[in-house]
Amino acid sequence: MRLIQVMLLLISLCLVGGCENPLEIDRETEIEIGRQGAADIEAKYGVVKNAEMQQRLDSIGPRVAAVSQDPSLPWTFKILNTNEVNAAALPGGFIYATKGMMQYVKNDDQLAGVMAHEVVHADHHHAKSAIEEHMTQALLVELITQKSSDSIRQAAAIALDLDLRQGYREKEYEADRFGTEYAFRAGYRANGLRDLLESMHEDEGDPARITWLLQSHPPLSKRIQRLNEHIPTLTGKPVAGT
Ligand SMILES: [Zn+2]
Repeated sequence: MRLIQVMLLLISLCLVGGCENPLEIDRETEIEIGRQGAADIEAKYGVVKNAEMQQRLDSIGPRVAAVSQDPSLPWTFKILNTNEVNAAALPGGFIYATKGMMQYVKNDDQLAGVMAHEVVHADHHHAKSAIEEHMTQALLVELITQKSSDSIRQAAAIALDLDLRQGYREKEYEADRFGTEYAFRAGYRANGLRDLLESMHEDEGDPARITWLLQSHPPLSKRIQRLNEHIPTLTGKPVAGT
């Protein structure tokens, strides 16, 4: 079927059925977009091959992903070679901490908190929704029906732009909230992410390191305040304790 025919079919189906979102990216395509984005981000920064650092990340990331709402995604956790204090998530479960973040966190609870925050971006499909919203309809149809390499690349570029420049805006609160829950259920202290954000808030005056997060996320003070309200509501025994 030609592209124009596919579009007409989708539009007519929608008129008949009154569907809300006929152009939804399926799971397989979402993972494919993440894989492309992962290749791009790794080419941009390089991956740190430090066995000790990677082992630490591998002892925490998958443990948090295991209590997420989609443990069967192809979760991978890698370290980007930059001193910037940052973390990133691509669709399909490709998660990154920067070398700067690995060195910045004061303990495993904080690292679990920030990795869990990123896991939420992936398992709550935040990039997928943004791609569906921002892509032109013609390209979105091409992505869904043909999975052309050009459409995959453009979708990955949108995901990377969200990660590296724009941030997920209001979705950051959702990632903080559920991330804190995931980390807690995985056996870490619930205040890890909150404590990390507090340190970053104190270091706001060091723009060489923290600029990006301040530009692209909601104010740290607001995120800390919301977590302070949420943490006391977390009760019960963590799923995997230490
Ligand atoms: Zn985020």
